Amino acid sequence: MQKIFFETIRKMIIAKTLSEFEAAYRSLPRKSDIGFVPTMGALHQGHISLVKKSVSESSHTIVSIFVNPTQFNNRQDLENYPRHPEQDCVLLKETGVDIVFIPRTEDIYPEEDNRIFDLGGLDRYGEGPRRPGHFNGVAQVVTRLFDIVKPARAYFGEKDFQQVAIISYFVKNLNYPVRIVPCPIVREEDGLAKSSRNTLLTSRQREAAPHIYKTLCLAAEWMKESTPQQVAEKVKTEIDKNPLLETEYVEIVNAETLQPVSGWDEARHIRLWCAVYARPVRLIDNIQLK
Ligand code: AMP
Repeated sequence: MQKIFFETIRKMIIAKTLSEFEAAYRSLPRKSDIGFVPTMGALHQGHISLVKKSVSESSHTIVSIFVNPTQFNNRQDLENYPRHPEQDCVLLKETGVDIVFIPRTEDIYPEEDNRIFDLGGLDRYGEGPRRPGHFNGVAQVVTRLFDIVKPARAYFGEKDFQQVAIISYFVKNLNYPVRIVPCPIVREEDGLAKSSRNTLLTSRQREAAPHIYKTLCLAAEWMKESTPQQVAEKVKTEIDKNPLLETEYVEIVNAETLQPVSGWDEARHIRLWCAVYARPVRLIDNIQLK
């Protein structure tokens, strides 16, 4: 008896089209307080930490798995992006998720999405100039998913620090009744930020990659005697000492405006963020300095 009850409350519906999702959604109690975790799949414990937080705070949790083409500015990157939804569902089954939504591209974009979003200039640095159109694509998919899922809260990782800030901005600007919940970065034991892209690293690159976070931690020391610009330079030089790594950028920004700072007293909170190639894989990471 107890076993049947247990299985009933843990039932997880997998919806592979919009109409399957809508049917599953209708089966939820009317006044559900929905927590939502949008992902691109190839799930790891970073994603699962968001899911667990949602499950602990919400009456029902919905996870989406959708590799959003409009946020990729590099076709090869889109094609190489790891995909294994069956494995993802096995992982999610243990977490208490109610619906896994794995839409087709035509469910999310029944027609071409030409919307251009106001991102408040938060895309001026960091990933913005290096991945033109990326954050607008993120805004397209996130607003579309919010319209479908209608969550009370949505959970995003600080691994993509700029993304959470930009989503918080346009959600507020567009009056979406969704609370954006930032969640801390989950790392491997050796410090490497967990990422779906880590599976694309060769074993030698994987061995080299923790050097990124180790260097970010050194920056917290260097800031005592150097300017932000000097620290950014030192971080770049140190990471690039490893022949398998090549920094694309290292920036130190005001954590609220996301504009570079030239002095440590210029902002209440300061973040160092970087993108590093272990070619052809591109890794990003960040750390709070203040
Ligand atoms: P993605 O599947 O890469 O689009 O990521 C889906 C969500 O998981 C985003 O909000 C990411 O920021 C978050 N995420 C990815 N990796 C991590 C991590 N290592 N720690 C915390 N959150 C993460």
